[in-house]
Amino acid sequence: MDSFFTLSLDGLQRLLVGAGFEKFRAKQVFDAVYKNRVFDPQNIPTIPQKLKDWLGGNLEFAAAKLVGNRESEDETKKYLFALSDGYFVESVLLEAPSDDGRTRKTLCISTQVGCACGCKFCASAMHGFIRNLSAGEIVAQALPFVKEEAGNGKTERKFEFENIVVMGMGEPLINCDNLMKALEVFNAPDKFAFGARRITVSTCGIADKLSKLAEDKFPFRLAISLHGATDEVRGRIMPINKKFPLATLLDAAEKFAESNGRMITLEYILIKDVNDSFAQAHALAKIAKRLHAHVNLIPYNRVEALPWKRSDLGRRAAFAKVLKDAKVSYTLRREKGAEIDAACGQLALKKRESEK
Ligand code: SF4
Repeated sequence: MDSFFTLSLDGLQRLLVGAGFEKFRAKQVFDAVYKNRVFDPQNIPTIPQKLKDWLGGNLEFAAAKLVGNRESEDETKKYLFALSDGYFVESVLLEAPSDDGRTRKTLCISTQVGCACGCKFCASAMHGFIRNLSAGEIVAQALPFVKEEAGNGKTERKFEFENIVVMGMGEPLINCDNLMKALEVFNAPDKFAFGARRITVSTCGIADKLSKLAEDKFPFRLAISLHGATDEVRGRIMPINKKFPLATLLDAAEKFAESNGRMITLEYILIKDVNDSFAQAHALAKIAKRLHAHVNLIPYNRVEALPWKRSDLGRRAAFAKVLKDAKVSYTLRREKGAEIDAACGQLALKKRESEK
């Protein structure tokens, strides 16, 4: 079944007219879904029952079904979605302070079931690669997060989150076509109208795709999972570094930054005695300065069955100080959601193992 979300208003009008409905019904459905956030056609009050039934029978509205969630003390919430073929993916809702000091909610969504990139510290890599998510399945991870807000004498339905990061299970740039279709749904003015600066795509460093996105004037923010500041260290934990070594990746990132005009974020998970040395901190500072990038230092969330440990508090602070002294923009993230398996892929991995 085709996804409702990848249809334009024109496309929906054509479909409805072809099925014997009036053209204006398409706009009613579009407004109900994108303005009022009603995602079950049976609940759209403005259309006749016959159209509700036709929509439900011919277009897919919820390609992934929310089947479970867990919440940690720091209010990180992790959600498990079931797909129609029995696989699971997950999304995470995080609360974090932003540059202006306000706390904002960010939804982290997945793009693949499992992942082929094989990062040694990652739970998603333990699945191996299973399949790409469709655009509808990527969008569906945002749909349960609607809240009602009262104002001006009426109640509005809005998304709970203010930012989206594509950083869950999978490597987004390997599923680029479906990713772009999903981002269009979030960003288009006549759809969810999420500003491009509120959407971040995170890659482990698919350099050839980055160069292509630079040519295509990709409007969204970019984060690069670096996790090692030399080929020797990065190569130990990220097999993708063999295909795209740092020199190739950084050239592509530089080209991307020039074309995109937004500050890149370098994600750096601090793993004890692997990538948390002073030498790595200095090398990271050099890379960040070259790219004019912001560095996000993240304490490692332990994954059962993997040997890696989180860097000690003192080491994390010392690492951060090197960046500070080098005048690199950085944040040292508080560990979030460790007790609910917030490292990507862990909840889906456990669910899959329990189903087995
Ligand atoms: S960290 Fe990201 S790119 Fe690496 S294996 Fe995990 S999901 Fe894939």
